[in-house]
Amino acid sequence: MEKREQLYEGKAKKVFATDDPKYCIVSYKDSATAFNGLKKGEIHDKGMINNRVTNHLMRLLAAAGIPTHYVEELSPRETLVKKVDIIPLEVIVRNIAAGSLSKRLGIPEGTKLKRTVLEYSYKNDDLGDPMVNDYHILAMEYATEEELKTIAGYALRINELLSDYLRDLHIELIDFKLEFGKTAGGEIVLADEISPDTCRFWDSVTHKKLDKDRFRQDLGGVEDAYKEILRRLLGE
Ligand code: UDP
Repeated sequence: MEKREQLYEGKAKKVFATDDPKYCIVSYKDSATAFNGLKKGEIHDKGMINNRVTNHLMRLLAAAGIPTHYVEELSPRETLVKKVDIIPLEVIVRNIAAGSLSKRLGIPEGTKLKRTVLEYSYKNDDLGDPMVNDYHILAMEYATEEELKTIAGYALRINELLSDYLRDLHIELIDFKLEFGKTAGGEIVLADEISPDTCRFWDSVTHKKLDKDRFRQDLGGVEDAYKEILRRLLGE
């Protein structure tokens, strides 16, 4: 497949057309942003690590029956994916309180939640990705009832699969964000990325943060944390 014009440039990735309208090429960048773009920086090799970690986890999920947009890793930073219409929702899954949940509800970071929490945000940078519930999603037609049911089911199953897989690598999956898309054929598939940019990963023994919180909170050792995730997942 041949790479054609750039379709889109986001905060962490660029998307290119190919000579086949059913496929796109995603190219991961080293640039990092936080707090809705207010904080900016570079994380050396982040693009390569997020591309490889995402693809590794997408292959694992696909093997377990979750449909994804992943097709083929083309290079350390570039991946061929199915072209989808992104459903304008950030689907957040939480196992342990952290980040905005801790802040909003006054729950100390690290508190184990009695049940998994599923949250949605409407993807809109100008509005700061406001949280929405099922009623908003249906009223605003961000997704249909059937699509929402499918998305919630996949998100909870993905949480089980990833939590189990990561536990064996001594990584605790605190929370994460997913995005879904719809293919030309109308199938809902997992899209976007699953990486230290979009998940909170803590070392299960030391509880050390191995994710973008090191960048958000200026904790230092950002590059090393990303590298450590790559090493534990892909053995290098
Ligand atoms: N997250 C993300 N993109 C966003 C917002 C959140 O990838 O725009 C991820 C974040 O990395 C964390 C989870 O979703 O793993 C929950 O994030 P939270 O709502 O606590 O927001 P934050 O504290 O990141 O602002």
